[in-house]
Amino acid sequence: MSNFSRQWIVTSALLDKFPRVLHGFGTKYFQEKELNHFCQSKNLKPITLKQLHSDHIHLLEKKPDSLLEGDALVTYLPGFVLTIKTADCLPVLIVDPINQIVAAVHCGWRGTAARLLEKVINFLIKIFGTQPENLYCAFGPCISQNCYEVGEEVRKSFNYAGFSLNENLFKPNQDRPNHFFLDLRKANRDLLLASGIEAKKIDEIVICPHCHQDFLSRRRDGHRCGRLLNFIGLLYN
Ligand SMILES: [Zn+2]
Repeated sequence: MSNFSRQWIVTSALLDKFPRVLHGFGTKYFQEKELNHFCQSKNLKPITLKQLHSDHIHLLEKKPDSLLEGDALVTYLPGFVLTIKTADCLPVLIVDPINQIVAAVHCGWRGTAARLLEKVINFLIKIFGTQPENLYCAFGPCISQNCYEVGEEVRKSFNYAGFSLNENLFKPNQDRPNHFFLDLRKANRDLLLASGIEAKKIDEIVICPHCHQDFLSRRRDGHRCGRLLNFIGLLYN
């Protein structure tokens, strides 16, 4: 991995090709102060959520009066920067270039077991008539399978949610019975592919924050480690 040395954000080459879409996955140097500064300079308003590890989706149709709660934000309005906070969890940014819609989704293990990403795609289909094959998706930095040991209760939640518990998804830890290494990227990629997203339209920035010092990891740094800021928005025409 290259040395980011205080670089603020990394971006997806797949999403970079849309001139009206602004997006990025923040390093630990890109905190709220930098986000606010960045948004002000472009006359945009950052929107954050009180994230709950839920499957709740917000369609943003006006400036919110209070802090929204949930784990996915969708908008067709220019001028808002949808922001998802992570520290190990997977941030997913989505563009529908036909309908000019963007979405930001927080995919931790609970949201993934709740099939949140699939619900976001279904939401776009239902509300906007989105065709899944037209969507572009980018996965940001997320804890790698080797760094992400989980217990049997997590595996059971995925089983209950209809995931197939193969050894690629939950690799058994040979040294610890009933402990597994979860591939959170794969779980979410599989949800997208099953929803009709084309594989070539899923870009993955494969950085493990647990391994990389320029990012924040709850498993490495503890619950109070702060959060990485991941964002997407539509610019004014
Ligand atoms: Zn790692």
